[in-house]
Amino acid sequence: MKKCQTCNDYFDELGEWQKICKPCFAKSKRAEKAREQELENEKAGFLYTIGTLNRRIAELEAELLCLKKDNVFNPDLIKKIRVLAHPDKHNGSELSHNVSKVLNALTQKTNTCI
Ligand SMILES: [Zn+2]
Repeated sequence: MKKCQTCNDYFDELGEWQKICKPCFAKSKRAEKAREQELENEKAGFLYTIGTLNRRIAELEAELLCLKKDNVFNPDLIKKIRVLAHPDKHNGSELSHNVSKVLNALTQKTNTCI
């Protein structure tokens, strides 16, 4: 007979290694499983929150990018520059064509922001 370290009841031990009775062992295993499930649920909750926050960060970054584009690549300003740089006003020079291409690309990019 041995005294259980958990409940202090006496039990027939299976060996010297056994420190707690069978009911206390079963109870501790159930508590272990319950804690494991609790941690899994908590983890799933945090992963969901991280997903939500990552989506919000992406939305904010896109919004910030659009605001910055509005400041740096103001569509009205691009339109005025395009008129000034138009190849017709520069004898169809290669430089004016290249600048016009860049301005057209910028206009398309700024149009993606709402
Ligand atoms: Zn016990």
